Amino acid sequence: MVSKRLVVASNNLYKIEEIRELVSDLDLEIIGLGELGDFPEVVEDGETFHDNARKKAVEIANHIGELVLADDSGLEVDALGGKPGVHSARYAGEPCDDGRNNKRLLEELGQLEMEKRGAQFRCVMALAIPNDEVKFSEGICRGVIAYEPKGAQGFGYDPLFFVPEYNGTFAELTRETKNKISHRFLAMQGMVKILKDLGLN
Ligand code: IMP
Repeated sequence: MVSKRLVVASNNLYKIEEIRELVSDLDLEIIGLGELGDFPEVVEDGETFHDNARKKAVEIANHIGELVLADDSGLEVDALGGKPGVHSARYAGEPCDDGRNNKRLLEELGQLEMEKRGAQFRCVMALAIPNDEVKFSEGICRGVIAYEPKGAQGFGYDPLFFVPEYNGTFAELTRETKNKISHRFLAMQGMVKILKDLGLN
């Protein structure tokens, strides 16, 4: 069978690789945006993860006329009323800097007790399908914000996101383990079901 293409509207190579691994049992070729040339940057100015994911998927799909998957994700901290949320990438301002974001988060939480440091990563995926409506899936992964960064894997808030069940931060887990429990994995599971319903399996 000729494999079908799914364009992932992201230039984050780490993320594209994660998605590629997550759909490896489908007959689907995953193409990162960077492999297709230069596209105008989609401004992520939505109020919700759904808004941003939809905007990215639809704008790119309008350019290329094929299946496009986009995701938007971020960290929601209970004690901060769900912040940084859609502003996760630029929590400490421009330019986007993981180290400064983590530092700001630690400052905001101070010495708050462990029981109050609950947080979750949320991922919303949007699939733009030519001549059809946009379809969504969502995944949430719960954890707590540690008192100091630990581990060297991953990206973003991974060194601060402690998962009690695995007794380690996302940055201490192997990629394989993170891929089994992450918000992106859970959202991708929902998306795989949608892709299969479209006959892509
Ligand atoms: P986006 O979905 O690429 O816009 O992600 C927004 C931001 O959320 C990233 O820059 C990270 O700060 C954070 N984020 C999303 N997913 C993860 C993850 O798996 N680990 C750590 N940080 C993440």
